[in-house]
Amino acid sequence: MSWRSQAQIYLRDLALFEEEIYVPTVHSQSALNVEVSKPDVHFEGAISPLPANLAIFEKEICTCTKCSLGSTRTKFVFGDGNPHARIVFVGEAPGFDEDQTGIPFVGKAGQLLNEMLSEVGLKREDVYICNTLKCRPPQNRDPLPEEKQVCKPYLLTQLALINPEIIVCLGRHAASELLGSESAMKDVRGRVISWREKKLLVTYHPAYYLRNMSQRTVGEADFKLLRQLYDQLSN
Ligand code: URA
Repeated sequence: MSWRSQAQIYLRDLALFEEEIYVPTVHSQSALNVEVSKPDVHFEGAISPLPANLAIFEKEICTCTKCSLGSTRTKFVFGDGNPHARIVFVGEAPGFDEDQTGIPFVGKAGQLLNEMLSEVGLKREDVYICNTLKCRPPQNRDPLPEEKQVCKPYLLTQLALINPEIIVCLGRHAASELLGSESAMKDVRGRVISWREKKLLVTYHPAYYLRNMSQRTVGEADFKLLRQLYDQLSN
């Protein structure tokens, strides 16, 4: 039974029996992760068998040295946010700040992402954020094909475990990683794409909006579309 159904039953029972509501305080992502149950779906390209949950998966891969970034990174940047999220954002790769902290999107691009989320009434804690690459490419160069190839099962496994209804690709690297094409951004952004029974949106990377402030309205429109999709989700 999914965690949502379990929660619904729990809340219904509370209402029926008028018990005191006990809402546990969740102190850390790993505490939340413990509750994630393994979805029994086959997710092509994900690691099989699926790890039991995100926290266990992070432990399994955080010392990865399958590509050369394993020896140049400061910290492995697994992902951040709600492991039950209905929306997952996929960025490109950690930058300097992310490499230092081990948390995705904490630098200037991350601050803009937080702002764009808050403009449509969403918070980071509502969503999950990760990248196509888990380690920073030196000098923030573009990810290399071999690096993407090694990291792709990690991303797909995260998506399988979280099982979100909406995925947002931030920029062309994330888009091409999931859509498997080199489609021009202008052709894929701003519309709802069906991907593995999920709704996938592509928008420009926040770093692009930082460099081209006049394009912010494009991003705002994409985030409004995201909000509409989110509001349309059942329950
Ligand atoms: N840019 C990304 O694509 N990911 C990050 O985590 C930070 C900046």
